[in-house]
Amino acid sequence: VSELAKEEMSKLEGIFHAKGLKFRMIGRIGEGTFSTVYKAEDLHYDFYQNDWDLETPDATAVSPPPAKKRRSQYAQDDQGRRRSRPPRYVAIKKIYVTSSPSRIQNELELLHDLQGYRSICPLITAFRHYDQVIAVLPYFRHQDFRMFYRQMAPCDIKLYFRSLFAALAAVHKHGIIHRDIKPTNFLYDIERRQGVLVDFGLAEREGTDCTHCICQDSIQSQRIKVESSKAFGQPAATGYPKNDQRPSRRANRAGTRGFRAPEVLLKCTAQTTKIDVWSVGVILLTILCQRFPFFNSADDVDALIEIASIFGQRRLKACAQLHGTVFECSLPTVGDKGFLLKQIVQWSVSTVRPEEKEAIDPELMECITFLELCLELDPRKRISARKALASDFLRDEDE
Ligand code: ADP
Ligand code: MG
Repeated sequence: VSELAKEEMSKLEGIFHAKGLKFRMIGRIGEGTFSTVYKAEDLHYDFYQNDWDLETPDATAVSPPPAKKRRSQYAQDDQGRRRSRPPRYVAIKKIYVTSSPSRIQNELELLHDLQGYRSICPLITAFRHYDQVIAVLPYFRHQDFRMFYRQMAPCDIKLYFRSLFAALAAVHKHGIIHRDIKPTNFLYDIERRQGVLVDFGLAEREGTDCTHCICQDSIQSQRIKVESSKAFGQPAATGYPKNDQRPSRRANRAGTRGFRAPEVLLKCTAQTTKIDVWSVGVILLTILCQRFPFFNSADDVDALIEIASIFGQRRLKACAQLHGTVFECSLPTVGDKGFLLKQIVQWSVSTVRPEEKEAIDPELMECITFLELCLELDPRKRISARKALASDFLRDEDE
């Protein structure tokens, strides 16, 4: 634990003390864009209505508490005293003071609405101390995506996406768009074959264009035009029409670069829950191609070029038209026809040259066929989380 983290943790302990709360800080577990997350042991006895081990994903509000263990089964604590119950770990999410109050309120409200699903991280409590807002969540054991995404067999892939889509189906059933689906926001435990969705900081209700969002641009043109720069060696310049009198487009573009759906990049103002399904598709593409991050763009226009390089200009133009905008690109590297996802996966993982043909393993082909349903450019045709769960690919034969 670094000196800085130690200092931060003792500051937090000071806040807990002032609030009459008892958490023993253990260490820093995550640092995101909007918060720092710490692992701590919860030392309250009657803090929860139900007394069960919160480290198991089943321990959310819907499942019954497991049978009580005998006292002797529990290890001794740091001071050598025998525990009367298993240790209960929590994740303390310290939201940066620079986050807007409406954004924080939005996150906490949506989490409150989504209580009771085993695949969605519940909120234990949240409180404010001066300008500092702290959320307390049950701690979920999980592994870093980068440690396992290259070793996933088709059966592991199914389990991962079954769990992720179960979470999404629940979120979408409530008319909520998560907006930031990516590996670090889905805490997956390989052993338990279960994950929980976290981080509702950018989530919003479908049909509301969020106002707390910090990523809104007002200097946007209705035309997205990409031209290759004439001067050799210079990066491709983005051209915007001069003297454009039309009102600029404003749309919620919140999310993480590389996981944004085409309609988000094209600034469609009527975004739906399908934007999350696209992001899931990007995770699947990452796993199948064994490349992380798969997309690596510097900005939204770059991200559109990356998508266009795969799907081809023709399909991207049609997609732009769906959202009342025009996509123009004169980069020689972006072809008209594009490629099949099957080809992209094959070229990423095999040693065979692109022009040569290689038979694809039927199980891998099943994954690719499912990938095509998620990475459908037209959001209306893109599969929903509910349908994905019921699909042959994800359906659990045992159920
Ligand atoms: P941010 O808004 O800063 O991205 P997140 O809620 O995504 O915050 O949390 C950041 C990281 O902290 C996660 O990627 C994860 O590694 C860790 N984390 C968050 N919540 C939990 C939890 N309940 N249990 C275990 N780790 C967590
Ligand atoms: Mg996050």
